[in-house]
Amino acid sequence: MTITRFAPSPTGHLHLGSAYAAWFAWQRARAAGGQFLLRIEDIDTQRCRTDYTDALITDLDWLGLDWDGPVRVQTEHLGDYRAALDGLKRRGLVYPCFCSRADIAAAGSAAHGPEGPIYPGTCRHVSPECRAVRVACEPHAWRLDMQAALAQIDAPLVFTEHGEIRVCDPARFGDVVLERRDTPGSYHLCVTHDDWLQGVTLVTRGEDLLETTELHRLIQALMGWPAPAYAHHVLLRDATGQRLAKRDAATSVHVLRASGATADAVRALAGIPGL
Ligand code: GLU
Repeated sequence: MTITRFAPSPTGHLHLGSAYAAWFAWQRARAAGGQFLLRIEDIDTQRCRTDYTDALITDLDWLGLDWDGPVRVQTEHLGDYRAALDGLKRRGLVYPCFCSRADIAAAGSAAHGPEGPIYPGTCRHVSPECRAVRVACEPHAWRLDMQAALAQIDAPLVFTEHGEIRVCDPARFGDVVLERRDTPGSYHLCVTHDDWLQGVTLVTRGEDLLETTELHRLIQALMGWPAPAYAHHVLLRDATGQRLAKRDAATSVHVLRASGATADAVRALAGIPGL
């Protein structure tokens, strides 16, 4: 059975681009007689707000997009992500990182990966004794030891995108953060964990996350989680070619609705055909 999901981070109101992303996942599930899930990815508690979550649920419903089963809210399941990370700790595939953003900037890594400067690996070289002491008393994140992780993978990593096989090269991400210092989890760990836990068979999302999928395939392979198929869709852009942003009121479903636009009109603006 096809199971898709829409997994927004509630850092602002639903905009036309996210409405399109929600519809894209919804129609793939509905066309296949499958299930469409809604998941709130709110682990970034500095930026996410529950009133945005409530508003986006109202807006999706108003647009005529219905979902199956209860909404999964990531902050209600932090123990799940801790357990996944504990497994990686036991296997020696993650290490604690005590560096602040300023430390990393000062280290001046010349190498850039898909998410910006590659972590120079400073804390990979901290001795086990020193690590144990520092973990007990200093704020820290947990990073994937990329070389150790890749050494566990014996066949080339691939994923299916619109039926085509794509080969992954996650090494260029470097030692990514799997648990942030402020919250037990990270986008990469939580999204792959939940897609597995919820039995998602087709991950649909914007083409801006295409490269990230290569890293997600590595995490899935390390954890023994089966690979879903992927369909990355084009992003909606404004007249100047800029990606739509949550801060832009002109493209907010909430604002358009409040100003009297009909659901049909908003669907048309989002490129959603009549339901
Ligand atoms: N939560 C992510 C976002 O709002 C998307 C997650 C995903 O589709 O992988 O950008």
